[in-house]
Amino acid sequence: MSATAAKTNLLGMSQDMLEQFFADWQEKPFRTRQIMQWIYQRGVVDIDEMTDLSKKLRARLAAETEIRLPEALSRFDSADGTVKWLFATDCGQAIETVFIPEPGRGTLCISSQVGCALDCAFCATGAQGFNRNLTSAEIIGQVFVANQELPRRDNGDPAVTNVVLMGMGEPLANYRNVVPVLKLLISDWSFGLSRRRVTVSTSGIVPHMNKLADDCNVSLAVSLHAPNDALRDQIVPINKLHPIASLLDACWAYAAKHANRFITFEYVMLRGVNDSLAHADELYELLNNKPAKVNLIPFNPFPGTVFKRSSAATIRHFQDRLRQRGLVATTRRTRGDDIDAACGQLAGDVANRVRNRLGDKKIGDRNIKVASA
Ligand code: SAH
Ligand code: SF4
Repeated sequence: MSATAAKTNLLGMSQDMLEQFFADWQEKPFRTRQIMQWIYQRGVVDIDEMTDLSKKLRARLAAETEIRLPEALSRFDSADGTVKWLFATDCGQAIETVFIPEPGRGTLCISSQVGCALDCAFCATGAQGFNRNLTSAEIIGQVFVANQELPRRDNGDPAVTNVVLMGMGEPLANYRNVVPVLKLLISDWSFGLSRRRVTVSTSGIVPHMNKLADDCNVSLAVSLHAPNDALRDQIVPINKLHPIASLLDACWAYAAKHANRFITFEYVMLRGVNDSLAHADELYELLNNKPAKVNLIPFNPFPGTVFKRSSAATIRHFQDRLRQRGLVATTRRTRGDDIDAACGQLAGDVANRVRNRLGDKKIGDRNIKVASA
């Protein structure tokens, strides 16, 4: 290897990738298990400390590979226990990661892209535009660093018990790098989380939902946000490509591949936009008798947005209506809003390469009807 060639980052390589890597080096297959356990279970990133690897292998690994973690630029601790990190990507940009402690579990919300190109009207990440996909190392590195920084749980387990891909970016638009991360999260040789504790949230990239069902069937959350195409076209623009009927077909096919598996439908409550009882009834018609749960998300405001959060009473009535008719519906508690860590507030620092909605175009100039409160 030449002195100038980049070293291979072992962080983020899934079991199948590492097996291929060691096979290419004519190494024994069990090296994969050893290295995964050193990195993800013991938190060791210094090859010299991996004492059950031969000296010769350690020397080659040290020369040609590295285990490079993303650099945490800053950390914010909320009064409610939520923690947010800002991680450097490159060229002065940054992404965000949020830890949400709850009784019995610790959920880490991780980012998959620097910004997002899908431009949902109510999302701070979308407002920033898109720069690039995160690498698998940058994505799994968020989990590694959170576990490194946070105290272990009372039973000795790592702090992170659940992972949701609900931070910055659309995970299924970065499919190639996200799948190895999902595999690492559920592998017994690394984080060993159950599939129920790993959730991909998507705004509905239908072809990749179908593929994910076969490649790595973790839990799925779908950002529905509107019960008809006319409204969804306006607030979730990917709907024009993959309308609700095809999105729901993909959802039911995904659920059918996994016994007892529900799809969670996220629904952001925007005052005067999608929050009437008529909308609740329309939503009920879509999800009735299906393996579906609804999770209402009170809208979290950010600078420049025209949207407002539905009142607590409106959200309650909407939820009650769904429940009375027989759907499972919950409302997400807003956490970490004192440190701008709540859903949809993650903006990091993104140099947009596509367009900047907050620059020349104002949010809301897509003719979305917002009732005055
Ligand atoms: N791109 C993926 C995952 C990231 S967003 C997706 O869209 O599903 C995670 C959730 O937060 C999504 O349901 C998203 O629609 C929602 N969200 C975005 N902006 C929000 C805001 N300002 N307030 C509340 N929820 C928001
Ligand atoms: Fe992207 Fe999700 Fe935000 Fe839409 S809601 S712009 S898909 S991050």
